Amino acid sequence: MRILISNDDGVTAPGLAALHAALADYAECAVIAPDQDKSGASSSLTLDRPLHPQTLANGFISLNGTPTDCVHLGLNGLLPYTPDMVVSGINLGANLGDDVLYSGTVAAALEGRFLGGTSLAFSLLSRQPDNLPTAAYIARRLVEAQSRLELPPRTVLNINIPNLPLEHIRGIQLTRLGHRARAAAPTKVVNPRGKEGYWIAVAGDAEDGGPGTDFHAVMQGYVSITPLQLDRTFNDAFEQLDGWLEGVL
Ligand code: MN
Repeated sequence: MRILISNDDGVTAPGLAALHAALADYAECAVIAPDQDKSGASSSLTLDRPLHPQTLANGFISLNGTPTDCVHLGLNGLLPYTPDMVVSGINLGANLGDDVLYSGTVAAALEGRFLGGTSLAFSLLSRQPDNLPTAAYIARRLVEAQSRLELPPRTVLNINIPNLPLEHIRGIQLTRLGHRARAAAPTKVVNPRGKEGYWIAVAGDAEDGGPGTDFHAVMQGYVSITPLQLDRTFNDAFEQLDGWLEGVL
């Protein structure tokens, strides 16, 4: 088993080290991660400048790019082999509902969608690292179990772990994505030279967080696993759109 590990919190993030430590004696692991925090980078590729990989003392490869750049290069020439799967994280902070649209953690796993194994994205529901051992243990168990999993290509698993010690985790639930409400307004700031700017606000609260959703599972103390596909075609809209198009051309 060969695993490419990446994240969006950056190559020095504690969640990346915890994930690597959890998997290192199970599989041959390569780590390629952004040289800085690229949370919110989504599936962006850097096309306006070259990318320079740099191998650090711990063997991790730091890249001046996005999570998607990291996995893309890893799967297209930077490694001497093709990995079986991508494992991304462990992100410090939830990736629930609408978050998957912006998440670099999920994007890194999605970039592994053509690989033989199903790629996994791991997020811990805390900005603090205290319960990273819980998340690392669960990541190890799920990566081991992945060898028995046969999902179609272009599918990844988005995994969110409650911010709890392992003994308080109640189990695992398969979930669908919930929805968040709109984010609050950006915070306006002024720099010392009078230039105005904005900080994007934190994500909105769960608006659709009822039973069956990822939000609900983690709030109840369960690990949430949501299978994600690249295909976002809204098939139920076809009938209505058919009628709408009549007479347009
Ligand atoms: Mn992040």
